[in-house]
Amino acid sequence: MLKPASFRDDFAIAAGIDPAFIARKARYAEGGQTLSSEHFTLRCISSASVKDLESVLANSEAVRQDLLGRLDRASLSVGGDAKVRLVFHGTTQEFMAATGQPWWAAAATQGTSIELQPLALLKRRGILLTTVRHEYAHYVIDRLSNGKAPRWLAEGLAAYVAGEAAMLASYKNPHPLSNAEIERRLSQASSPKEMRSLYADCLEAVEKLIRSGGEAAVWRQVATPVRSGQTAPILERTDRLKAGLGIAS
Ligand SMILES: [Zn+2]
Repeated sequence: MLKPASFRDDFAIAAGIDPAFIARKARYAEGGQTLSSEHFTLRCISSASVKDLESVLANSEAVRQDLLGRLDRASLSVGGDAKVRLVFHGTTQEFMAATGQPWWAAAATQGTSIELQPLALLKRRGILLTTVRHEYAHYVIDRLSNGKAPRWLAEGLAAYVAGEAAMLASYKNPHPLSNAEIERRLSQASSPKEMRSLYADCLEAVEKLIRSGGEAAVWRQVATPVRSGQTAPILERTDRLKAGLGIAS
């Protein structure tokens, strides 16, 4: 099963299953189209125009450049140049079966693989490009943090990078939760409504960090996740050791 996906019910992904996609399943399950660009391969199992696929690839390359710039400004980088694989499933059912995600999740990212709901469905909901942005941000955040970034931070930063502020604005909690409380609720939430509200909280928490310390500091925080029980990022503790200041246990 893949790790945390993007829960995007407001996008009301298909209120269950779209019969049109089921009908296409037999025709495309075996085939699909595969295209690639310099840093991405894209597999689309349902029918889609080459123009749409090329647009997704161009968007993906642009997102990558954007993310590299953000990391550069934080004096960070992610090593390796493995291609990231985007897979648009043929049906919502196939997406659910492949990822273990609920029908209202738009996508799921693990390692270098980003699995998504059918391209036509995401396009119809108007979230095709933002979903790719969001998931690519997860890929970068996972690599930077070795998969150890707290979920509230990963989700909030991915939403920030994807430009989802306007979309989530109306779901903001009037009484902001602590980050620990957001994290706890994220692990227990089971309804799309609850997830949507928590995602707005994640974004709000990250925006607050950015307002106080700048975006670069947030990326550095991602790169040095604080383990539960620790009071300071690992890097800071190391630096203090190096400086001969010792560390209070
Ligand atoms: Zn996400």
